[in-house]
Amino acid sequence: MTPGAGWAIVWSMQRVELADGLSCPYRIQESNRARRIRLRLSAADGMVVIVPAGAVPLREDLERLIQTRSRWIARHMQRFAHRESAAQAEVLALPGCIHLPVINERWDVRYADPDPNQAPSSTRVRVATQGVLQVCGPESGQSKDRAQALRAWIRTKATAVLPTWLAELAHDLRMPFSRVTIRDQRSRWGSCSHHGRINLNCKLLFLPRPWARYVLIHELCHTRIMNHGPDFWTLLAMHEPQALRIRREMRTAWRKLPAWMTMSLA
Ligand SMILES: [Zn+2]
Repeated sequence: MTPGAGWAIVWSMQRVELADGLSCPYRIQESNRARRIRLRLSAADGMVVIVPAGAVPLREDLERLIQTRSRWIARHMQRFAHRESAAQAEVLALPGCIHLPVINERWDVRYADPDPNQAPSSTRVRVATQGVLQVCGPESGQSKDRAQALRAWIRTKATAVLPTWLAELAHDLRMPFSRVTIRDQRSRWGSCSHHGRINLNCKLLFLPRPWARYVLIHELCHTRIMNHGPDFWTLLAMHEPQALRIRREMRTAWRKLPAWMTMSLA
């Protein structure tokens, strides 16, 4: 499944637990030029593991290698975190309109309360009319609270849509799962446990529908094959013939997300 030239992302995001409770997201890139495995860290991409094309190592081996560099990684991650919180101190741009391609919906967002005297004490989002969201809350409400409320709304929206879609695909493809949970995860589109429990990221609503469908099918295939070995990709290609192309296109998927949806609001 390696394209002829350049880079290929083997799979979007994994996460490795380092010492001191630090957990670091990483993704793997194949490179035709790489002779050996190396790690690259940057504020924009986080940790990228570059592996020689066609020689994707076992996850266990890879994580052992990462562990040996954990102090170096921790030092860099700390630096990036400082930089990120500095960026957040700037005004958080809130959306005037939310476009959700997966369900083909567009929502205008209004922030002024119709009646400030009736404003609730905490920030929340309600549907004013179809296609219009009203963000209500104390007038002094911070943009962080508003972003948080909008994100909670997105998660509720995703919970109303994605599990049904996953169940339909599971039925059509005859790959049952045991449970599905919708989360607002930071660095993974989805995951599947050994018990067939699937997690899906509510941010999938912001992607083109074929991409989101690809992620759902990818996770369903994990109910049969947990790893990312050749058999997995064969199974996936059987159910999604465009898998290779979509996987390549999805390299920039995180960039399609609006900042208020991705930044850490803790
Ligand atoms: Zn996978």
